[in-house]
Amino acid sequence: MESADSLKIVIVGGVAGGASAAARARRINASAEITILEKGPAVSFANCGLPYHIGGEIADRNKLLVATPELFWNRFRISVKTLHEVIKIDRELQIVHVRATLPDGNAQDLTFPYDRLILAPGAEPVRPPFAATFPKNAFQLWTLPDMDNVLAYLKTHPVTRVMVVGAGFVGLEVVEQFHRLGIQVDLVERNPQILTRMDPIFAKMVARVIESHGVRIMTGVSVESLEIENGTAVAARLSNGDRVETDLIVMGIGVRPRTALASNAGLAIGSAGGIAVNEFLQTSDPNIYAVGDCIEYTYGVTGEKGLNPLAGAANRAGRIAGHHAASGDAEMMGPVFGTSIVRVFDCTAAMTGMPEKQLTQRGIEFRTAIIQATNHASYFPGAISMHLKILYDDPSGQILGAQAVGGEGVDKRIDIIATAMQLGGTVYDLAKIDLAYAPPYGSAKDPVHIAAFVAINDLQHAPRLTLPDTDLSGLQVVDVRTEKERQLLPLPNAIPIGVDELPSRWTELDSNRKTVVVCHSGKRSHVGASRLVSSGFKEVLNLTGGMSIRSLTKP
Ligand SMILES: Cc1cc2nc3c(=O)[nH]c(=O)nc-3n(C[C@H](O)[C@H](O)[C@H](O)COP(=O)(O)OP(=O)(O)OC[C@H]3O[C@@H](n4cnc5c(N)ncnc54)[C@H](O)[C@@H]3O)c2cc1C
Repeated sequence: MESADSLKIVIVGGVAGGASAAARARRINASAEITILEKGPAVSFANCGLPYHIGGEIADRNKLLVATPELFWNRFRISVKTLHEVIKIDRELQIVHVRATLPDGNAQDLTFPYDRLILAPGAEPVRPPFAATFPKNAFQLWTLPDMDNVLAYLKTHPVTRVMVVGAGFVGLEVVEQFHRLGIQVDLVERNPQILTRMDPIFAKMVARVIESHGVRIMTGVSVESLEIENGTAVAARLSNGDRVETDLIVMGIGVRPRTALASNAGLAIGSAGGIAVNEFLQTSDPNIYAVGDCIEYTYGVTGEKGLNPLAGAANRAGRIAGHHAASGDAEMMGPVFGTSIVRVFDCTAAMTGMPEKQLTQRGIEFRTAIIQATNHASYFPGAISMHLKILYDDPSGQILGAQAVGGEGVDKRIDIIATAMQLGGTVYDLAKIDLAYAPPYGSAKDPVHIAAFVAINDLQHAPRLTLPDTDLSGLQVVDVRTEKERQLLPLPNAIPIGVDELPSRWTELDSNRKTVVVCHSGKRSHVGASRLVSSGFKEVLNLTGGMSIRSLTKP
């Protein structure tokens, strides 16, 4: 057995999870021998910043290099070996086999012994079938060399039209950055909507913003093949038969966990396809840990195992694994909620927890409240509208998920809700959170509070909410908007009674009929619906999100 002061910790992969693990291990154990083996040319680079350097928003490439091998050695006495690819783990001998690329370009085979091994090799981008034709102008964007390749091509070729394949977070960031360069962008997504983890209405709001900047979005179609001339793709053939000309293609159709090293070594792989780990990030071999995009996390809400290729979780997991590997003890890894955010043009979209689709697939019943509010006091200059949706259990009020689309302040609201979820919170808890307020920052009733109040009203039947796409035929529908609003977004067959007229005109309505009250956002309709409830109407519902959201449910 090794003595604690000579503990050899070897880490495979030196970016988000690996670098965090190494730094934490050193803080916990001053004498351990810590080595990072990284197959690429750099460690601890900001992969999340790659799109922004392409568009020039991060002008200085060096800013992407968060920590260098020199810094790791000088500050932490952590040995970093770049261009060292781990090709095999020998669990019996506790060594890893490495193929190193020497400065002269030749390869050298080496072995490194370990007492504790931490796997942080990340994920690899999925290559679509059309990429097998290897055109010179089709790129993925996952590493610094990937980014450099795109930039080199842009410098040496005239590019006026780019096709981005895949409308996930990275795809949208890339769209924005090419647009920033004045390049016409086409976005192709195989699924019927962009941002597939978001609920369709919220994804549609984002799509509208993108389209308003002249980007063409093609959903429900995939790239079937490429037309190649002199090794360069000049056009893509889509599954709907369309031919789209292009000068450059960026593929961002998703990633898959890098598990080959682990599975070849006989480590357990979970049902979602990632390396199976326990709460201390130990694999089925307690001397081997795994962190980051290559593992399966435990998801909050359901407790299911799932992939979560996001930087925050990788960093936190790395910290725990580094601590445990160095000391045999650590805090346990908590659940993840897939909390994520993207900026595209002047729009921010963020989410946490489960979207409707996932809840429905699992047979989990839920209620939905959608509100529209401003990021700070509406009377303070620069207030921006946001939509916030919260999904919760009936009757407990447990928060199941939330999504928001707007501008500034969307991040704060989703992070507050994610925090509440992490603590097992309910909408009742959200309504009580004591948030900082001054007019430039928020409202005395924050959008988070309003969403919680609306959800609580719903749970307490005062009155209940109904979904934006509710079939209104056969119901008594009361439209409490202004005449101007009705003209802009008509609601056929509704009885038009303005919210301020309702106290004197409710007697014109049939109190025995099931009634739905509708306004633009769901706020005035709550006032109207409450009035009808207190006037003795049998069943009154408030259309959550109002016409602003209902109008998005139509094709
Ligand atoms: C363009 C882009 C934008 C992103 N934006 C965001 C964002 O805004 N928010 C967010 O949360 N996440 C974002 N991500 C995802 C985030 O970067 C990853 O979730 C995170 O980096 C995962 O950390 P990791 O340590 O598991 O893997 P990585 O950070 O990918 O590091 C893995 C490292 O292991 C090395 N490696 C692999 N195999 C071996 C081997 N056999 N031997 C040695 N080394 C090996 C790889 O070269 C790589 O450097 C983005 C990713 C990209 C590419």
